[in-house]
Amino acid sequence: RVRVRFAPSPTGPLHIGGVRTALFNYFFAKKHGGDFLLRIEDTDSNRFVPGAEDYIVNSLKWCGIQIDEGVSVGGPHAPYRQSERRDIYKKYADQLVAGGFAYYAFDTPEELDAIRAKFEAEGKTFTYNFEIRTQLNTSLVLPAEEVQSRINTGQGWVIRFKMPENEEVEMHDLIRDRVVVNSSTLDDKVLFKSADMLPTYHLANVVDDYLMEISHVIRGEEWLPSLPLHVLLYRAFGWTEVMPLFSHLPLLLKPTGNGKLSKRDGDKLGFPVFPLFWKAENGETARGYREDGYFPEAFVNLLAFLGWNPGTEQELFTMDELIQLFSLERVNKSGARFDPEKAKWFNQQYLRMKSDAELATLYMPILEEKGISVQTEYVESVVALVKDRATFMSDFWPSSSYFFVAPDSYDEKVVAKFWKENIPALISELRERVAIIAPFSQENIDKVVHEWVAEKQVPMGQVMNNFRLCLVGASMGPGVAQIAALIGKEETLKRLDAGIK
Ligand code: GLU
Repeated sequence: RVRVRFAPSPTGPLHIGGVRTALFNYFFAKKHGGDFLLRIEDTDSNRFVPGAEDYIVNSLKWCGIQIDEGVSVGGPHAPYRQSERRDIYKKYADQLVAGGFAYYAFDTPEELDAIRAKFEAEGKTFTYNFEIRTQLNTSLVLPAEEVQSRINTGQGWVIRFKMPENEEVEMHDLIRDRVVVNSSTLDDKVLFKSADMLPTYHLANVVDDYLMEISHVIRGEEWLPSLPLHVLLYRAFGWTEVMPLFSHLPLLLKPTGNGKLSKRDGDKLGFPVFPLFWKAENGETARGYREDGYFPEAFVNLLAFLGWNPGTEQELFTMDELIQLFSLERVNKSGARFDPEKAKWFNQQYLRMKSDAELATLYMPILEEKGISVQTEYVESVVALVKDRATFMSDFWPSSSYFFVAPDSYDEKVVAKFWKENIPALISELRERVAIIAPFSQENIDKVVHEWVAEKQVPMGQVMNNFRLCLVGASMGPGVAQIAALIGKEETLKRLDAGIK
């Protein structure tokens, strides 16, 4: 059975790269009728950030990702928060020590700093590995009684993985195929610490994937360097038969394609890098796609294309379609450049797909906030006229406010260009014609204005630009007759009168 997990560490708001990882896991699980788990990897208490877990859960919810098992929903492998599973891990660390795959190390931070400094002084980088471990205070060299007494007297210790020397570790990745790393390039990673009696990421992650019967691990490329250790841990535990299949998703790159997209890029480059607005305990805030006005469907669609494509020209897909189409074979190896303009394009497409009734429903609360109460049908007619120019719901008010309130000022440039000395008299005359149009429809208004322009022998443009200026206060918007018909005769006359003055 396909079982995948999204396993974030609650170290802050989830970055869009994290959401992309969650989504690809979700697509894969649902495509294969499997389970999507949410596990919180919070064994590193130094990096724990309050509120981050709620943020993660809310972000997944906003995207429409349904959690089958995990934090916030429970399940047969509960608890799904590693800090609540602390009693589980020690025995696995012990098992590795007993089997000779791991050992106790008693180095204090000061001792490690001193060795590191010594290496640096000699122009070498310090790696805790086979070369050095025999010269240090570890259970590999100390007599058994000494090890036990050090543990009993409460001296600090860690359990380290005994990385084999010069072994070609062969791994398989569904996106990258075969990956081989020589174990001599790797270090003896800490698996467990006495300081908090908690496992580190590597041990907790592998043990939980095993216990939770995870079939596929789909995660970011930044975890590829950890894969040899994870594979060796599966071997050491004797779990290779049930080892998950691994896939490492390509990095998200800055819009320039130059380097990894970082959590700080959003502020620098002027677009959000988080799904939801975030406020840290210290008051720091960060923009989110939701609050910036993105539709969740558009957000999901644009993230799906970061490192994956369906192999056709089509770009717009619903969640269900993405689930059907998704395959790890179509995920790229090379980094995916994030393009904020393309992100906007996706939102614009989703806005255009909405019916006028849906758009009106979304626009109503914005209007209410402005103190405007109008009939939904009227709002529907307005959005129909201006939606082609909108990318976000927030674009509607600036481009359609004149349908709800008369202009309180007139664009100076437009005035300077069109409002010549003879215009007030001309518009007054036109006003009288407009006043007797019945019914006050777009066609009738157009017809009357045209007839009058022909009769007066004045340039059409001169009349229309100034008519528009009176109604809108600027040179934007759909046809003048369309605007007049929609706001109605009474309002049209009022605005002409106000303009003439
Ligand atoms: N806790 C890790 C993270 O924060 C999980 C990596 C993995 O999926 O193995 O991304």
